Amino acid sequence: MRWQGGRRGGNIDDRRGLGGVGIAGGGIGALVLAAIGYFVFGIDPQTTQQITSQLGGVGSSEQGVQGSPEDQAGAFVDVIGTNVDDVWRTKLQGYEPPTVTLYEQGASTGCGFGQSAMGPFYCPADRHVYLDLSFWDQMETQLGASSADFARAYVIAHEYGHHVQTLTGTSQQVRQAQQRAAGEAEANQYSVALELQADCYAGVWAANAAAASNGAVALEAGDLEEGLRTASAIGDDTMQRRSGGRVVPEGFTHGSSAQRMEWLRRGYQSGGPAACDTFSGL
Ligand SMILES: [Zn+2]
Repeated sequence: MRWQGGRRGGNIDDRRGLGGVGIAGGGIGALVLAAIGYFVFGIDPQTTQQITSQLGGVGSSEQGVQGSPEDQAGAFVDVIGTNVDDVWRTKLQGYEPPTVTLYEQGASTGCGFGQSAMGPFYCPADRHVYLDLSFWDQMETQLGASSADFARAYVIAHEYGHHVQTLTGTSQQVRQAQQRAAGEAEANQYSVALELQADCYAGVWAANAAAASNGAVALEAGDLEEGLRTASAIGDDTMQRRSGGRVVPEGFTHGSSAQRMEWLRRGYQSGGPAACDTFSGL
């Protein structure tokens, strides 16, 4: 995808190189593997606070690269996030951008303690997207997903989709519906609808990316396929199979591979959020 000439809005809270806050350096590999399948693209890290408190210790403090001309990874997130903002300003009246926090290993958030193992997530309480850039490698090595530029951009746009859901009140309505739900399976259906809508919103962004940036940010041939490959790799059935378990649809929280691909494609083909009603029938 094309992005190098895109505008940088600078809405980035760069905490890289600060030394992981309260996360031990070694021995977390297994936990990362176990947790990542569950939390990829999740919204709220509260349930991992327990894990975090068991880890303790102080993380390594690597030299940060923020602000340097070599910081392509940081520039990419800034350019894509700014472009996603520009698209949503045209689609949602009163849109306000979120902040993107880049961190390494762990970070305190408005939703509890966040850590890399959870994958990228959005916290509605402080309206930040939290992103550890090591996730791009994990997408390839652990999830079998594409790590192409557009695949990464899809992940970013998905998290912005949760921000949009917070601005529209959908996230809050879903939480209330989940509290009324008869059981976990029913509550999970609302999670799936919320996640698929965020996928659809990512597609809406992709459809409008070029127009919102005078072509500076634009998909190229093969990009959508990379995004669809990633959407497929992080489907609940594929994740359950990869972790060696049975496929249990009642336990889905993000949607199957087929559903995630379908909604990303629907958002892309329609280009408007009205096509993203994943809640009808619930
Ligand atoms: Zn999500």
